[in-house]
Amino acid sequence: MNEFEKLGVDAQLTKAIQEIGFEKPTEIQEKAIPLLLTGTRDFIGLAQTGTGKTAAFGLPLLQLTDPSKKHPQALVICPTRELCMQISKDFISYKKHKAGIQTCAVYGGASISEQLKEIKKGVQILVATPGRLIDVIDRKAIDLSHIHYIVLDEADEMLNMGFREDIEYVLKHTPERQSSWLFSATMPPEVREVSKRFMKTPHEVTIGKVNMASSSIDHQYFLVLHSNRYEALKRLIDFNPGIYGLIFTRTKLDAQQITESLVREGYDVDALHGDLSQPQRDKVMARFRTKQLQLLIATDVAARGIDVKGISHVINYELPDDPEIYTHRSGRTGRAGLTGICMSIVTPKEKSRMDQIERFVKAPFHKLDIPSGTEVCRKQFFHFIDKMFAADISHGEYETYLSALKERFENVDKEEIIKRMAALEFNRFLQYYENAADLNIRKEEKAGKKKDKFKKGGEPGREGFAKGGKYKSLFINLGQKDGFYKASFLQFVLDSSNLRKEVLGKIDMKNLNTILEIDSASASKMIKALDGKMYKGRKIKMNVSNQ
Ligand code: AMP
Repeated sequence: MNEFEKLGVDAQLTKAIQEIGFEKPTEIQEKAIPLLLTGTRDFIGLAQTGTGKTAAFGLPLLQLTDPSKKHPQALVICPTRELCMQISKDFISYKKHKAGIQTCAVYGGASISEQLKEIKKGVQILVATPGRLIDVIDRKAIDLSHIHYIVLDEADEMLNMGFREDIEYVLKHTPERQSSWLFSATMPPEVREVSKRFMKTPHEVTIGKVNMASSSIDHQYFLVLHSNRYEALKRLIDFNPGIYGLIFTRTKLDAQQITESLVREGYDVDALHGDLSQPQRDKVMARFRTKQLQLLIATDVAARGIDVKGISHVINYELPDDPEIYTHRSGRTGRAGLTGICMSIVTPKEKSRMDQIERFVKAPFHKLDIPSGTEVCRKQFFHFIDKMFAADISHGEYETYLSALKERFENVDKEEIIKRMAALEFNRFLQYYENAADLNIRKEEKAGKKKDKFKKGGEPGREGFAKGGKYKSLFINLGQKDGFYKASFLQFVLDSSNLRKEVLGKIDMKNLNTILEIDSASASKMIKALDGKMYKGRKIKMNVSNQ
């Protein structure tokens, strides 16, 4: 009898994995497979990638699936698109000799309509990333009522990335769940908490050492175009509403300008840079230390010697040149036994530097997607609800008004209150993110970059087409030397002209001047608002560019 058969794996699956070349089970497979095959026991496997964990849950899942029933029976939830595709590919090779089992992968950044079509054809096992899974559930495209098994793969990663609510939602809405299997490389308190809330006396297995030292910081990076850097930063902040973070820029000017823009947009942030006097510096630091300030934007020089407890995120708005500086930056989080996240916003040009840093740090770096507008809104919503339930209502002045309030609410039902509350809190986000662009650089985009550039933006001085409208290029005699960078410039022209962001296209900023693309219909309004006006004692010149 083959070693896998001894664990209870059936003949068809054994045949397939023998063909792949698995001769004997790995440790996690040996420990997990017999238990998972019972189908009724909750399980926690502390195991890293490379231990054979995919087969450890995949084989039992395929064996427990009933091919005669066409509805979804199992969900595998994992943090990234890459892992989702890998798991799904592995499942396809394991089930080669098993008839009648359909699996399907759904993940962000790809057409949802194709994925929905696939689900509609009938699938029993769905492999999904959390955000896209919720999208699919929202569209009522999947029936959760007969899900028997849920696998959370790389649970620590998913919680680090802010998917707690999404995962809990799924766990709460699968009434026929018979067992849940959680795999994680580490066991931070958040993972423990989820397991306590949703699992019944799980059997726990640890493979190798759970390395706390290297896993206290999760290194993540996001690949975006240079012109999207600021927007990406805002998305990351908005997606982490409870963030208590330190943001690093390379220059003093950047620190100042990003701070100005973020403050203008209502973020709780201040800057720390070399131009501040000692008392000003102390004041900023005191506010940050006492958490009256949520975000601190600093240059490496200014941040020297800062030791603040409990920083949840370090964000590299720009990468440092020196990998050692990266480790100084990231080391501000994940201290004293706590876990932390170090995020880097990286442009294609900087990618090789990112690789160099990764080699230097000797820890795995995760390439993640900048969350979509919908994901941000959902996150904000649940955060607000969490905050509401966590509020201390044991005492308060409001008691005096309670009877008057009760009267006011007498004829208002619960649903209306929820709706009103949501509207009040979220309209800003919903509006802002309603048509939010995908900020991630996709492979196809990179391949077709040259063509796209011409097609989308048009060359300066010519009329191009973008977002379905005709664009004109405007010349303006303001540029980097005036202290602008793209985001602050954008803010400036929009504030001055009272136009909406959507009318703008590409911004090509040089030291002395800038070429700005604008929807033809709005061009004259923009010129009228700016041409001839003064900026810092200089007359602004703006006209249609004929370069
Ligand atoms: P995983 O930890 O699931 O990402 O698996 C790591 C690698 O080990 C994958 O390439 C698997 O195909 C391979 N693998 C998994 N189980 C076995 C096994 N029992 N024998 C040999 N290779 C395996």
